[in-house]
Amino acid sequence: MNAEIIAVGSELLLGQIVNTNARFLSQKLAEMGISIFFHTVVGDNPGRLLSAVKIAESRADIIIFTGGLGPTKDDLTKETVAEYLTCKLVYSNEALKSIEDYFKRVNRLMTENNKKQATVFEGSTVFTNKYGMAPGFAYRNTSKTYIFLPGPPSEMEPMVIESVIPYLNHLLESKGKIVSRVLRFFGIGEAELETRILDLLEGQTNPTIAPLANDGEVTLRLTANGSDDDFLKSLLDKTEQQIQNRLGNFFYGYNQTTLLEKVFLTLKEKNLTISAAESLTGGLFQQEITSIPGASNIFKGGVVTYSNEAKITILDVREATIMAHGVVSNECAIEMADCVREKFGTDIGISFTGVAGPEELEGKPVGTVYVGISILGKESIAIHLTLGNNRDLNRIRSVKNAYHLLIQQLK
Ligand code: ATP
Ligand code: MG
Repeated sequence: MNAEIIAVGSELLLGQIVNTNARFLSQKLAEMGISIFFHTVVGDNPGRLLSAVKIAESRADIIIFTGGLGPTKDDLTKETVAEYLTCKLVYSNEALKSIEDYFKRVNRLMTENNKKQATVFEGSTVFTNKYGMAPGFAYRNTSKTYIFLPGPPSEMEPMVIESVIPYLNHLLESKGKIVSRVLRFFGIGEAELETRILDLLEGQTNPTIAPLANDGEVTLRLTANGSDDDFLKSLLDKTEQQIQNRLGNFFYGYNQTTLLEKVFLTLKEKNLTISAAESLTGGLFQQEITSIPGASNIFKGGVVTYSNEAKITILDVREATIMAHGVVSNECAIEMADCVREKFGTDIGISFTGVAGPEELEGKPVGTVYVGISILGKESIAIHLTLGNNRDLNRIRSVKNAYHLLIQQLK
């Protein structure tokens, strides 16, 4: 099933408001496995609205309208579509009563046009509006489903969560079940990931495969439909296996799992403790890890050694190492990790040193970062990252890369 969103409102075309309704609906529908192929925006004009409806009918199974359900003359969405589909507009008694009650309560005169807000298509499924007056509704004929929602996000969003999603789930179930599985990757760019699975992406039917890149991570959402659970699981397993064969090195978790959670769970499972020595990240790693309840079982402590002297006097990094290689170096990162692990008596020591920006350091460009890792009984290593020019992002990405390094080293 696929859907098209038609946002109605001249303010949208004039750039006075942003079409956040389309974004919200797209996110929610994608989570359900409904593909959105088009967003349309059209002004408060019956002729142009109708032409948008006809185009949408030629390419979508579900057409979702937002806006233009209010009381004024320019609110013409349902009137226009009703006439076109030869549907009768009737009052929703519940909505009419709640509008009348509202005007009594606030002791204001209810003008006749307010009643128009309570109308819906005859034979439609009505969605109560808890935060405004005009109810939403869904109408189905033999070929299409038309859904009408109010424009204000404060009314539309709760209506979608409470009524529209259950309605659509029901509709999907009548056509077979939908199951999704999200695979999460780190350490590979979106373009490279896509290239490696291009043939799978191009050949996708069931399950569908949808990539999404966000904040240095890439996810793939697999969505399968069918009628029985075992069959759906086997479809997802088979496609996941093909993907894992090619991208397994970068895979770190399913669905909503974060890198931090994965690290935390791995350390807990293996009963390992960790400490941290941070320079450019200024304590970000320690702040994040301690944000998880139960952190005291795995995290023993750490230091922020920002200056060269602090690295030498607090951590016992050798002056000779810094003289020979600089602080922004593989050698310094490894020594920081070894030293902090010994000081805190933990199984693992992790370290961060680099150039966050905006100035370069020791002749090394902004974005040069070394993350060191020292694991009891293993040879210590450091990874060299080449990040960007944004100071804050460099700190955040350094920490994310450390999580990824930990996950790999503990595999
Ligand atoms: P009302 O009863 O408030 O008139 P309505 O259903 O008739 O609601 P519109 O008149 O089209 O909706 O829009 C009302 C307000 O809702 C707009 O001024 C705007 O603030 C917000 N709105 C409408 N459409 C969108 C949209 N697509 N994205 C975000 N906000 C929107
Ligand atoms: Mg309006």
